[in-house]
Order: sequence, then C-alpha cells, then structure tokens
Amino acid sequence: MVDSSELNTEEIIGVRLRALESALLRDHSDSSRCLSRGPRKGCESDHEGKSLKTFEELDLILPVRRALADECYEIPTPIQAMTIPPALNGRDVLGCAQTGTGKTAAFALPILNRLGQRNCRAESNRPHGLVLAPTRELAIQIAESFATYGKHLQLRQALVYGGVSQAKQVLMLNRGAHILVATPGRLLDLMNQGHIELHQLEMFALDEVDRMLDMGFLPDLKRIISQLPSQRQSLFFSATLPPRIMELAKRLLRNPFSVNVSPKSPSVENIEQRVLFVERSGKQALLSKVLRSDEVDSAIVFTRTKRGANVLAEKLVRGGIKATAIHGNKSQNARQQALADFQCKRVQVLVATDVAARGIDIDGITHVVNFDLPHEPESYVHRIGRTGRAGGVGMALSFCSPSERSELGAIEKFIGKRLDVLIEQQRSLPQPANSQGSAVVETEKSRLGGSENALATCSHKRKQKTKSHGCKNARRRAVQIH
Ligand code: AMP
Repeated sequence: MVDSSELNTEEIIGVRLRALESALLRDHSDSSRCLSRGPRKGCESDHEGKSLKTFEELDLILPVRRALADECYEIPTPIQAMTIPPALNGRDVLGCAQTGTGKTAAFALPILNRLGQRNCRAESNRPHGLVLAPTRELAIQIAESFATYGKHLQLRQALVYGGVSQAKQVLMLNRGAHILVATPGRLLDLMNQGHIELHQLEMFALDEVDRMLDMGFLPDLKRIISQLPSQRQSLFFSATLPPRIMELAKRLLRNPFSVNVSPKSPSVENIEQRVLFVERSGKQALLSKVLRSDEVDSAIVFTRTKRGANVLAEKLVRGGIKATAIHGNKSQNARQQALADFQCKRVQVLVATDVAARGIDIDGITHVVNFDLPHEPESYVHRIGRTGRAGGVGMALSFCSPSERSELGAIEKFIGKRLDVLIEQQRSLPQPANSQGSAVVETEKSRLGGSENALATCSHKRKQKTKSHGCKNARRRAVQIH
C-alpha cells in the first residue's frame, strides 16, 4: 500500500501478533454460529457459509495472498472463515465478534481485495472505502493492519482521528486516499468542512459498534450514515448485539450475512481468573504487593475513573513501581507515549480506564488487574482479554471490596462461572489483636511473592487448575495482606 509510509511507524500502536497458533484457531472453529443467511444471490461462490480451512481457498488477489503469507497467516479465524466469502461476493455482513478474534482482517481483506482488483485512481477527498472505529488507538491499529495486508497493493490510505491537529490529515485527504480509517467525531468535522465527501464510497466498515454507542456516537453515526451513497457494501462488527445495535444494523445493512462467533461462555479460556476480596482502603497496598511479584512482568490495571487512574499511577511511581496512566483526558501524544513505553517495557504497569484500553493489542501482557470492578459485566471480558493474547496464557485478578459484591455477582453470571478466590475476606472471624488491620485470613501456605507463587501463569498452574476441579472449594486459597 503506497501510503503506508504516511503512517509514521512510531505513531502506530500495538504489537502485531505474528501468528495465532493454528491449534488455537482450530479449537475455536466450532464456536462459529451462523445466525441467518438470507436468500442467496446467483453469483455467490460455494464457500459462502462454509468454514474455510485455509486462505488459499479464498478468491483473494495475489498481492493480498502474498501479504498474508508474509504474516504467516495460513488458517482463517472463525470470523474470517465465515464472513470473508460472503463479503467477497458483495454481501453486507453483520458480524458479532470480540476483539482478538481476527475481525480486522475480516473486513480489511474484502475491502483491499475489491479496491486492489479495481485498481482505480485515488481522488482528492473522495475515499472509496471507509472504516469507522470508536477510539483513536483502535483506528491506528486498523490503519496499521490495512498497511500490512495491503503492502503489495498500489492503494493509498488516510487516517483521521481527533485530539491532534487536522492539518496533516487534511493534506493526506487532499492528496487522495482509496481507504479512509476514521473516528466518528473527526470524520464529521472534516466532512462539515468539505474535506471529505462520501458520494463515491463503495465499501463501509464499522468496527466495535457497541463501544461506539456506549461512547455516545449514535447521533454522529446516524449523520454519517445519512450521507452514504445507497449503492455500497457495508460490513458491521460488534462484540454484542443488543436491540439498539440491531436497530442500527437494520438501518444500515441490506440482507446481511449474519455471523456470531462469540463463545457461549464469553470468558476467555486461556486466562486464569481470580478474585481477591479486600477492603477499599487495602487495595493500594495489595496492588503494590501483587505488582512486585516476579511473576508480574507486564500488567494493565483498570480503574473506573480517569482521575482514579492518574492518582493510582502516581502512587505506584512514588512507591518505586514503573507505571503510567492512559485515559481519555490525556492528549493524543501522551496516550501514544504511554502505550509506547508500556509496549517497549519501559514501564511495567499501564493504569487504564475501559475506553482507553479498548482494542489495545499488545503481546506479552502477563496480568490484568481490576483495581475497580467494572459496572458492566461485558467490560470485564474486554478487560481481561488484554492478556492471554495469541494463544498465550495470562492471569486476571479482580479486587472486590464489600461494596462491589453485586458487580462481582453480575460478572460471574455473565461469564457463567464463579471466580476462584485468591484472597478470602475475613467476615465472621474476630480480628487477632496484633493483626494491624489485616483484612484476610490465611487458609493455605501460598503467599503473594512466595515460593508457591499464586500469580504464576505458567503451564504448571494450568495443570494445577485442572487437578483442582474435583475439590474446588477445598482448594480455594487465601493469603494475608500486611
Ligand atoms: P484482531 O482481532 O483483528 O485485532 O486480531 C488479533 C490478532 O490476531 C492480531 O494480532 C492479528 O494479527 C492476528 N491474526 C488475525 N487473523 C489471523 C490469522 N488468520 N492467522 C494468524 N494470526 C491472525
């Protein structure tokens, strides 16, 4: 893709995961469920609706196939296997899939394939393909994916998002871009100023629609949709499909091919999940202790508020832990710097709010800590999905204060299982006279940072977990906080 050089690599966030383990992909292939297919059109290939075994079976043009081979992609993920064939046939697609399932390629490949095949000239301010993403970070990652999958094509792309000067973005649009990746607010701004005109648009993709709606983008989306030409193909992806999203999908899509690859239990298989009961006042000390463990190489800590993220990061730094905060009140440069520092391991800990962390695709995050439990159980799944990426193992630790019991209950209901307890809060036992305010009781020898390190995410932990299934309660561990 010619204009991938326009994307300053230092601005690109997210470490590309070179290859998902084939086994992992195969394991997940059963989880795909076709919701509805609608009537077939005459030109559709035999592949539509079937799960593809390899990318070779797809009618992708050679430059795209070469780029996939460069990336060592051989087997499509379930969302790719189900949605790429109908999309290549010109069908609208409604895909229900979470982050980390390979959905970027599910919409990027059909767009690149079609525009690469047509090989038309990029016209000033008139993109042929438009991709909308809720956050700047996700938009940048998507643009990077387009640059990767389209690197052997003569296509140009532009990337626009808010929080930075629009000058460079306008320049890229003026020069002409086949594909535009954008966040809704900045896109509308530029449309209103006459820098973007959508009359020529052929393909429109929306990623993480549920998050866009959560972030209040519905009015912007409606305005954008009202300006799209009626002759277009739309690809619509969301992690959840509540009624308001279905309503939007109905408005946008025509006879869509609908696929749901959400696992029945939305919780991520290869992530060890534990709850630690702790008084609110004890969370900071517990966190410092957790983060000092040798096992915690790289961690994202979630707080509910932006201010909470700042305060916590500052306290960790004062305590000698390398940490930085990322949230929506930070400037774009500060957010990118925080991600770059975390990615390069210059800081061990990224303290984040939900919106800021959404879509972060960084390899090697060993632990996710829910310092505050999220109000929405869906956010829990998104949060813990930052670890255990690309077939690796990870650990998610959730700090639960007495006032957060109902959030914990909602999470357990949503993921369909009870979380193992790593620290049990002492409720009925009297506090020992010299307890110095300890809020927990030790029931096993395991201590944070001790030889039987409870935070390990290595394979012997997985074996331990398997062994413990028969006597789960007896094995519930608790440690003491001093
Ligand atoms: P996504 O859900 O699009 O963010 O993708 C998650 C990660 O999986 C990214 O790092 C992709 O590079 C990687 N990935 C996507 N599709 C495949 C595939 N078919 N084979 C191997 N890796 C993939």
